[in-house]
Amino acid sequence: MANNSALLRCRSCNALNRVPAKRLSQNPLCGNCKALLDFPFQAMNAAAASFDQELSSWFETVLVVFWDKQSMLYKSVEPVVADIAFSRAGKLKVLKVDVDAEPALAQLFSFQASPTFIAFRNSKQLGRMDGAPRESAELVPWVEKFLT
Ligand SMILES: [Zn+2]
Repeated sequence: MANNSALLRCRSCNALNRVPAKRLSQNPLCGNCKALLDFPFQAMNAAAASFDQELSSWFETVLVVFWDKQSMLYKSVEPVVADIAFSRAGKLKVLKVDVDAEPALAQLFSFQASPTFIAFRNSKQLGRMDGAPRESAELVPWVEKFLT
């Protein structure tokens, strides 16, 4: 079952739709109400108030990136993060947490090194990487381990 479908929640009627991966790029419609199923193609900023909801409302993998704007290390991986968010849209949701703006989330996840990556599914942690990989491209296979 690897890599062949994604579970998307319809924002209009709340129905859960299983969409074959090859149809994700073809503007898939909800099987129940025919509304366009939209899903994120880019990393979104996360806030403490909606963080749990962001994790639990998405049925595929969530990659959370904690970053500190004083650290330059995030800049080196940011293009890779953007590329993963675009190329795995429908299978992966990417959330960014600015640790200065969201100190409670930073503390909750014991943030120490910028950037820190945590992969979740169904609100459970699947894996964690503290600090940037030596080569930015190493992030891609690391994330792919956690995709369905
Ligand atoms: Zn619907």
